[in-house]
Amino acid sequence: MSITDNVKEVRRRIEAAARSVGRDPSEIKLIGVTKTVSAEKVLEMKDAGVADAGENRVQELLRKHDALAGAGINWHMIGHLQTNKVKYIIDKVALIHSVDSVRLAEEINARASAVNRVVDVLLEVNIAGELSKFGILPDNLEINVKNIGELPNINIRGLMCIAPYVENPQENRVFFHTMRKLVVDINGKMYHNRKMDTLSMGMTQDYQAAVMEGATMIRVGTGIFGLRS
Ligand SMILES: *Cc1c(COP(=O)(O)O)cnc(C)c1O
Repeated sequence: MSITDNVKEVRRRIEAAARSVGRDPSEIKLIGVTKTVSAEKVLEMKDAGVADAGENRVQELLRKHDALAGAGINWHMIGHLQTNKVKYIIDKVALIHSVDSVRLAEEINARASAVNRVVDVLLEVNIAGELSKFGILPDNLEINVKNIGELPNINIRGLMCIAPYVENPQENRVFFHTMRKLVVDINGKMYHNRKMDTLSMGMTQDYQAAVMEGATMIRVGTGIFGLRS
């Protein structure tokens, strides 16, 4: 299967999952996860209609960002971000999905301020409380939204999670459901702040389940490019 065929198939499945719960499929943005994939293939994905690319490593993001300058690709930082690397990507990314501490948010705020930007971010939630994963625990989320929400050069657009690895994607619906509930609850309480409108959740294994529970961004790598070696 070609990248173009794979993109078509992913879009078909997004649409079916959205319609099955009465959602408008156009509310869901597909991010192609391009880690380990060549710049040439990223361009192929762009030509197939996916202009949003997600990378989980700063070095690799920078390399492809520069190689594909002017190609009209929106770069998303989706992996754990070290504070000392924020400066390299601050003016190159459309959205940082993986803000997991006030310290990191403060550094993003400072660097964004220095280049006169307001940077869109998502807060990563460790939704299943897995020791192996980064992210803010659900119990600590509200205080983090409050504190990070006060930083003037950061705009908290919403939440992101990486659900557990499962055989049956239905098992993750409960986590996606909880993510959506967290957004609704916090939006309801923080009437003085801008409301969150983005939920980045669902990968190749479980994006249909995520769409059914309210995802507005899904991050698909394997489903577009095949297995990573
Ligand atoms: C690799 C990765 C994905 C995509 O995973 P696939 O299973 O290949 O679709 C999504 N989100 C994050 C944060 C990733 O690191």
